[in-house]
Amino acid sequence: MSALYNRIMKKNVSPKIKERAMSHGKPFFETGNDQSGALVEGWKEIAIEKLGEIADSNRGFRLFLDSCVKCGACTDKCHYFLGTGDPLNMPVARQDLIRGVYRRYHTLSGQLFPRFVGAVDLTEELIEDWSTYLYQCSECRRCSVFCPFGIDTAEVTMAGRSILDAVGLKQKYIHAVLTNVHKIGNNLGMIGPAIADTLESLEEEVEEDTGVNVRFPLDEPNAEVLLVVPSADLYTEPHVDGLIGCAKIFHQAGIRWTMATEASEAANFGLFVGDDSHMSDIAERILTTAQNLGAGQIVIGECGHAWRVASSYWRSLFKDGMQGFEQLPEPVHICEYTHGLITEGRVRLDRTVHDSKVITFHDSCNVARGSKMGDQPRDIYRIPRELLKAACENFVDMAPDTICENTFCCGGGGGLLTDELIDVRVSGASPRVHALEQVIEKYGVTHMAAICAICKSQFRTVLPHYGLGTDMIVSLHQILGDAVVLN
Ligand code: SF4
Ligand code: SF4
Repeated sequence: MSALYNRIMKKNVSPKIKERAMSHGKPFFETGNDQSGALVEGWKEIAIEKLGEIADSNRGFRLFLDSCVKCGACTDKCHYFLGTGDPLNMPVARQDLIRGVYRRYHTLSGQLFPRFVGAVDLTEELIEDWSTYLYQCSECRRCSVFCPFGIDTAEVTMAGRSILDAVGLKQKYIHAVLTNVHKIGNNLGMIGPAIADTLESLEEEVEEDTGVNVRFPLDEPNAEVLLVVPSADLYTEPHVDGLIGCAKIFHQAGIRWTMATEASEAANFGLFVGDDSHMSDIAERILTTAQNLGAGQIVIGECGHAWRVASSYWRSLFKDGMQGFEQLPEPVHICEYTHGLITEGRVRLDRTVHDSKVITFHDSCNVARGSKMGDQPRDIYRIPRELLKAACENFVDMAPDTICENTFCCGGGGGLLTDELIDVRVSGASPRVHALEQVIEKYGVTHMAAICAICKSQFRTVLPHYGLGTDMIVSLHQILGDAVVLN
């Protein structure tokens, strides 16, 4: 690895390696005849100015660019590097795509002695690399766990993507999702009557299955809980089974809850383009809805980056602090909320329903490394596992270097869950799938539970590429819901 690493550090990648690297995939952009992207006039000046603005306003970003000592500790920690073998997918190499330009135009040493400090000119070829490799990073932050300085490549990626947006290279999938959420209120573009119909049919389906009228309320005022889920939960399996699980738990615990037409999306793709205005608009819609409905508590459903934004960013997104929203309590993750109900004995679980299963858990990266849950730092790992153990006799963890803060991304996060990137997604999933295969072989694992809509969608698509069934991946709240004793 060191020879490869040194070659990258010297910016001396052979054309053959480069060709192979580029063939892994590049996203579609909104511009260009073939969706390959088209730069706006004056793109170079715009990019350099925007990079300077970000470095001036974001001290963390500037520190990350200034403090790397090229120790190499992060090089083999990225699932995309491990999966593709592409040296430009080493986290430090990804950072260097931006760092070289920052040094060239925004540091004195880079202006005076560019060759000695790794400063490089911004060229169309380099922008081409940015538009490829900043979309082969799922912003999962695994590399930062192993960096002695905590350098977070996700922050560098977000900044780089916002520069790409400014020069006309807007990634098509992310911006289509953002357009939907701003115009219609959710990523899938489901209009109000469709949401109401879906919830009504779920109510009928559960009553048919169980004989119990479990309600799926919509837009009810003064509820104890406003549940905000990713819109995938209203649309398809295995997501919808997780929503059914939540409804059963709320029903059994006697919680007055509701969902809301105006807050029908927990996911926040603003995070993926590093644009606070998108993030704050999406967050504001949820907070305003909670306020208008008089909801006592916002509970965020199974969505990794939704929870990262809610738990880590909400308070800092608004220029005037949480002005107007202070009376709303801090948002709570669905796992923490249902864990409380089960711990208090308000819901009884029958573990025998899962006797034929052996279940493992995939820590979603945005939850495991980007947010908090409960009172103690490790509650974020403990709570989901305690929930699964409460519902199932046979729970096993994957290898320690692949779980909790060391977890591997599913390979589809960070705005990569789009068809044209399928090769990158399949390659990037390989470290996680390898860990899963080990517990299948050792313990006969039958199911992997997750608490993120992107992870669930990604695994359903990529598991068959590894000879595994799509049904292996389940919602954590589906496992709970199936075990709830209803009356
Ligand atoms: S943030 Fe994740 S995807 Fe991005 S470089 Fe680091 S390990 Fe790789
Ligand atoms: S581990 Fe940190 S300091 Fe070392 S090469 Fe990677 S980013 Fe740079």
